[in-house]
Amino acid sequence: MSKPFASLSVAIVGAGPAGFYTAQALADLAPDARIDIIDRLPTPFGLIRYGVAPDHQETKKIQELFESIALLPQIDFVGNIEIGKDITLAELRECYDAVVLAYGVPHDAELGIPGEALPGVYGAARFVGWYNGHPDQADLRPRLGKPGAIVIGNGNVAIDIARLLSKSQAELEHSDIAPYALEQIGRAAPGDVHIVGRRGPAQAKFTTDELTELGRLEQAVAVVDAEDIPARLDDGLSMKDKRIKTRNLECFRAYAQSDPAGRSRRIHFRFYLRPHAILGNDCVEGVRFERVAVSDGGSAGTGEMLDIPCSTVISAIGYRACALNGVELSTAGNCLRNDEGRIDSGLYVVGWLRRGPSGKIGTNRADGESVAQRIQQEVEPGRLAGRAGLERLVRARSLSPVDFPGWKRIETFERANAPTAAVRRKVTRISEMLDVSRALPT
Ligand code: NAP
Repeated sequence: MSKPFASLSVAIVGAGPAGFYTAQALADLAPDARIDIIDRLPTPFGLIRYGVAPDHQETKKIQELFESIALLPQIDFVGNIEIGKDITLAELRECYDAVVLAYGVPHDAELGIPGEALPGVYGAARFVGWYNGHPDQADLRPRLGKPGAIVIGNGNVAIDIARLLSKSQAELEHSDIAPYALEQIGRAAPGDVHIVGRRGPAQAKFTTDELTELGRLEQAVAVVDAEDIPARLDDGLSMKDKRIKTRNLECFRAYAQSDPAGRSRRIHFRFYLRPHAILGNDCVEGVRFERVAVSDGGSAGTGEMLDIPCSTVISAIGYRACALNGVELSTAGNCLRNDEGRIDSGLYVVGWLRRGPSGKIGTNRADGESVAQRIQQEVEPGRLAGRAGLERLVRARSLSPVDFPGWKRIETFERANAPTAAVRRKVTRISEMLDVSRALPT
């Protein structure tokens, strides 16, 4: 029989999908628990707001579920409080029976090649944050324009970026892309966008829906060299991978027939190219790649080099985690060291921070459920002050948390200011978010 769960207090650090799914699972298991979802931004929903592509509004509809979770009586959103800066993790653990870390993996993995620091080179987290209106990236002003952009990496993030850079203004008008990004992409569209993989089409991590979407763009055409497409798949694939990759290869075969003549924008898939150096003196002028030979999924350099000119490089090769004081990174550096979601007594981790940056939004649901069950089994409820303890720290430090009604005022403002076809016009400055969140209804 499970333990009674009354008066359990839980703080979840990070208001993205993993945090919300965990809150929902805890609320289901323990209707009397008090759960605070704390985020450093005044806005909830994490990667739904700042990671999912702004032209994928269907995917963003999951926000409605998270909103219903936030409105449960035992759950509160506490925005604009940064754990690790405003309040330490140790202090938070002294307030709550359990703390769940769900703040994602925010940093870009590095290519580790010469020239990476040149102006015009961006990691995907920064670039995606820029066009999604993340306040940390609102001033990025990336270099765009001719002779084009190179996106390094063969995952869905690379596809998102290439698509956004290749869409017309009309195609983006229903999105919630940041207004400055819409203007800049419209004014300085790269024209040619190269998606470059260090292995082949059969090893690429694209999902088929994302890949085929590039065949339906108004002005841009996707192209690939037919010689790069293998006749058969590697042995030993699971049935699921075989199905996905077979469909992907069919899609690539169709792109190999594309006629780019007369099209103002082209998305080039380039394969078997390993980044060797970013070229340029004062800013990026191109990327030097080494050709690789791939067999059975493994790859080896051939020594043959190829330079592709560009004005922008975006590396979409994965992310690195950051550790708060008192927790450790995994050996790979892309998540926290943990034992099936447990870090220490009363301290847990979920989402990308638990398992590394992979999977769909819904993958986080199972994570949240398993950690909620562990908390139920392992944590003694009612030991600590919970929300009252947090409020004491907030008062003592004169912090300015934003609650869920405060966020709703921001959202109402964004919707009221949306251009005709768009769902919202995002506020991209923290100071403006705070002003709007405090505004009295008129
Ligand atoms: P990903 O799927 O893991 O792809 C990373 C890519 O970077 C791989 O092609 C990898 O190549 C390549 N790479 C890694 N290190 C490299 C290096 N040093 N040089 C060159 N290439 C390198 O990661 P992601 O695209 O960031 O996506 C993260 C997760 O979010 C994925 O699960 C993805 O499906 C998901 N996501 C989904 C959507 C969607 O459903 N619409 C949109 C965005 C993201 P190797 O394979 O050779 O290692």
